[in-house]
Amino acid sequence: MANSSTREVRTRFAPSPTGDLHVGNIRTALFAWAYARHCSGKLIFRVEDTDRERVTDEYIARAIETLKWLGIDWDEGPEVGGEHGPYLQSQRLDVYKHWADIFIKNGDAYHCYCSTEELEKRRDKQRELNQAPGYDGKCRELTSGEIEAFIGQGRAPVVRMRMPDGETTFNDLIRGEVSFEHKYVPDFVLMRADGSPLYTLAVAVDDVLMKITHVLRGEDLLSSTPRQIRVYQAMGVKTDEFPIFAHLPFVMGQDNAKLSKRNGEVSIAWYRESGFLPEAICNYLALLGWSPGDDREDISMSELVELFVLERVNSSPARFDMKKLEAINGEKIRKLTLDDFLSRALPFLLKDGVVSGKDEELTVLRQALPIIQERIARMNEVSAMLKFLFTDELFFDQEASAALSNEQAKAVIAKSLEVLQGVDDWSHGAIEAKLREALIDQMALKPRLAFSPVRIAVTGSHISPPLFESMELLGKQRCISRLKAAVS
Ligand code: GLU
Repeated sequence: MANSSTREVRTRFAPSPTGDLHVGNIRTALFAWAYARHCSGKLIFRVEDTDRERVTDEYIARAIETLKWLGIDWDEGPEVGGEHGPYLQSQRLDVYKHWADIFIKNGDAYHCYCSTEELEKRRDKQRELNQAPGYDGKCRELTSGEIEAFIGQGRAPVVRMRMPDGETTFNDLIRGEVSFEHKYVPDFVLMRADGSPLYTLAVAVDDVLMKITHVLRGEDLLSSTPRQIRVYQAMGVKTDEFPIFAHLPFVMGQDNAKLSKRNGEVSIAWYRESGFLPEAICNYLALLGWSPGDDREDISMSELVELFVLERVNSSPARFDMKKLEAINGEKIRKLTLDDFLSRALPFLLKDGVVSGKDEELTVLRQALPIIQERIARMNEVSAMLKFLFTDELFFDQEASAALSNEQAKAVIAKSLEVLQGVDDWSHGAIEAKLREALIDQMALKPRLAFSPVRIAVTGSHISPPLFESMELLGKQRCISRLKAAVS
């Protein structure tokens, strides 16, 4: 059984960025990071980009940027380097070839000349006979004459690993003892005919050469483990030096189906643009399949590091819950200092064209942000909430104009105009007192009917920060002229 107690813990995050990193990737990265940090070990970031048609430089750059944004740092990998590099698999092709050659030389692997059509035919036959589909070992023991004949036909061979009879058993730190009978793990391809490596070869060779002690990854890769262990054996790694596996439970959508675009599996870039804070994403994903041992829902990165043990990773699937993530995001927003809130809000306000970054705008924002901090769940709500402060012309949508056009609304606005003109101390307290007296005491209106027309008239929307504070911020003159515009 693998024994890691004396080794420095080295985990890795090894994505194949064929698109932007998504919830599942990041949960894996976060757990690998937290485990490495908890054990005072190292996190290695390796890019599995042997499929250069699908993994682009742009996706790699975005993956790096996303991890940094989330606060997940690595000790070896792109940008930081390290003694076991390069950390892009596309730059290690000679390493994989070197090992494939050794495996052939030692008889652990062999050249296989079967064509795709032949394999397909034989697989159909296996299906017909109800046999487990997979390579039947045809090229395992070719004579030199047979090899020459194949070469004569112009066939280029793949390199295939010989899977001995028996079974592979390993102790997964999350799932316990796992066994695979080799009759269900047929001889597998390590290298294509063009010399490019397959995932199983590259991942296993790199985990060994990069001295990985713990492989934390998604449960979907569980079934590739016996093949990887076979590669370790062929490399001559001693059993007690194999990496230890910890396969993380699936993340399911709300509907109990595996997470996909439809039920939440969207890129982290999307969450970022939608106003989720990195600390909220990490907080939420940390609790997705892991628990600190109590029912807390608020956890910081440093607490995660302190408390992260694999024994507390759940073996059953976790369910992704967007509402919960949003609630956590709201909580994190409320905790921001004003400076922090401002600097995180600013990119959204700039992008939406609400402000251009002038000093006087920043002054207004410093006054306005505290009054919305309790009210938003995502940072991208800031623009809609505050744009009334930075525009001279309000835009009323259909709903808003309709709400202003009935007789009662007109009467409310006319009355408000009349009483507000006499207010000299333009503070929210004074505004509130005047409007309550006029609309609620004198006109006998319910608060909603009283204040809603005023809110729409001055902010352009029925969703806004608290009304009286908004009016104070907007200033008397602008409030009066907006009320006037609304009556006409
Ligand atoms: N590169 C693989 C993927 O993104 C993961 C490799 C591994 O964790 O073993 O699916």
